[in-house]
Amino acid sequence: MKCTICEIGCSIPESRTGACGRYVNDRGRLRELHPDTYLVVCPISAETMPVMNFHPRAKFLQISTTGCNFDCSGCVATVVAKDVDTDSKALKRLTPQQVVQQALDEECVGIAFLMNDPLASYYTFLEVARTAKDQGLLVGCSSNGYFTAESANELSPYLDFVNIGIKGLSDADYKSCGAPGYAPVPRNIRYFHARGIHVEAACMHKKGEDDKVMEIASTIADISSDIPLQIMRFIPVDDADINCEPSIRESEDIQRKALRLLNYVYLFNSPGSDGINTYCPRCGQLVYERDFYGPMGSKLRQSFISGDERQCPRCGYELDIKGAVSSTRYDEKDFEGGYPFTRALEIIEGTLAAIGVQDRRSIARCWEYSLRENGLQKLHGNIQNFERYADSIRHFGSLTGREPAAERLTSYMRERVQDIRTKAARIETKPRVYYVMGTPLFALEYERLENTLIEMAGGTSINKALATTGRPGMKVTAEALNALDPEVIFISSFMQTPLDDFYDYCDALGIHVDAVRNRRIYNHPIPCIDFGSPRWILGLMHIAQCLHPDIFSVDIDAEAAVFYREFYGLEFRLEDVNRSFARPSRRWRTLA
Ligand code: SF4
Repeated sequence: MKCTICEIGCSIPESRTGACGRYVNDRGRLRELHPDTYLVVCPISAETMPVMNFHPRAKFLQISTTGCNFDCSGCVATVVAKDVDTDSKALKRLTPQQVVQQALDEECVGIAFLMNDPLASYYTFLEVARTAKDQGLLVGCSSNGYFTAESANELSPYLDFVNIGIKGLSDADYKSCGAPGYAPVPRNIRYFHARGIHVEAACMHKKGEDDKVMEIASTIADISSDIPLQIMRFIPVDDADINCEPSIRESEDIQRKALRLLNYVYLFNSPGSDGINTYCPRCGQLVYERDFYGPMGSKLRQSFISGDERQCPRCGYELDIKGAVSSTRYDEKDFEGGYPFTRALEIIEGTLAAIGVQDRRSIARCWEYSLRENGLQKLHGNIQNFERYADSIRHFGSLTGREPAAERLTSYMRERVQDIRTKAARIETKPRVYYVMGTPLFALEYERLENTLIEMAGGTSINKALATTGRPGMKVTAEALNALDPEVIFISSFMQTPLDDFYDYCDALGIHVDAVRNRRIYNHPIPCIDFGSPRWILGLMHIAQCLHPDIFSVDIDAEAAVFYREFYGLEFRLEDVNRSFARPSRRWRTLA
């Protein structure tokens, strides 16, 4: 029989499944193999999903299952889409009514199927959508948009919004994800838009692919210039090549060009960039100010229109925003809501990799344990401090029978931490240090590990004086920064900016601090060595050396070579390291 859920259109023989492995031909009837089974059910705010021009700041109930109808390399949700065992005890079984009841109990305005694709759990989502609509809730999803005409038509009466991720506008873009071509995607955007469903579109911006983004912007503009386009600056995780990552400035340039075609274009994965805000398409007045809120997410910080006002406060232009701005703000718990959840699972995987755990079954067992025992909240606390971090490593060591490896890793780390702490304790004048992610005004949250590393290495974190909160931080003003006058600035190794661009940003923003005048702004020499995996020990050594070159002298490449050989059994090659917390190298393979 032919599956009509998505346009891959599998022919499924009796008792077999299609390409996604989610549906079985059961005596001529298509049956969902894992119905009503969720990996995530938790509240989330609209901008975290993200939707930008739809019920700003409103609280929705996120539901995510497992699996995907696509198989794309470099997927940021790969752990959810491909890796979680469908029989895992971490999964929750809930009827559609139980899901809806939870949304009502949590005072959500609606339900949103996010992170993996609803086409992988089509019948489950359809039933939840019907039940939610009956009880007055909004319903939406993010999807690759590969609905057949039949499934789009069946689902659309229950759908209020959809965020469609566009891979590109060539058949080759879709073939690389296991799909035959791109045609169904613009067709479905047009269809949902014509049915009055709020549509936003999202696309990746990879280095050197400006034309692709512009082509997508132009295709959307042909449908409606009011459809918001979310440009996701590419973060190379999974097995992606780090050279595909554009700088924030390059992505800001393409956003500016796309704004010539569309009224609302947003730039994600670019902390501190104004590209995440909403401006009036006619006069440029700031309407919604947002913060970066983890990969693929944002947080509404300030609205310059209230309630269900639509007019630009300066020129009166009628903005295309659906729904009123919620007066209350919902802050997700640590690692909850959208993609930060997948980063949490990656952090666990990254820790396991360093104690030699490479098999999927053990990794899945540790995820399972963490998801069941409120472990993600504990993990978030534990990774900010060495002693608790060492406890976490030992804990994962005992869960996987790798106690000696865990002990070896903690000893290696303790030895270096103690050496740095002992020498740093004798330093009388500790430089004022600012830790930033992306661009100069995005200050990392003051309790995060990176700021702890600064203090360990003999610096004084000014992020603590700025009392920055947020996830992973918040935007501060140039005035506040100038007043604290940091002598050194470190840029997070998760989202770096070329130093020339960084100095230009400082100049344009009027940041004249000591660190700028004395050219003491540092990127880390290796990606992802200050958070997210035990490789932060390399970041600590690098920070100590930059702060006090008279006391600390480390060859980071040589130290990385030792670390990689000892703990991953790999030769260190800088060109193989990307922004993944989980995988130390693109050559790292997990085993079945
Ligand atoms: S949903 Fe798509 S990938 Fe899965 S069986 Fe149906 S046609 Fe194939």
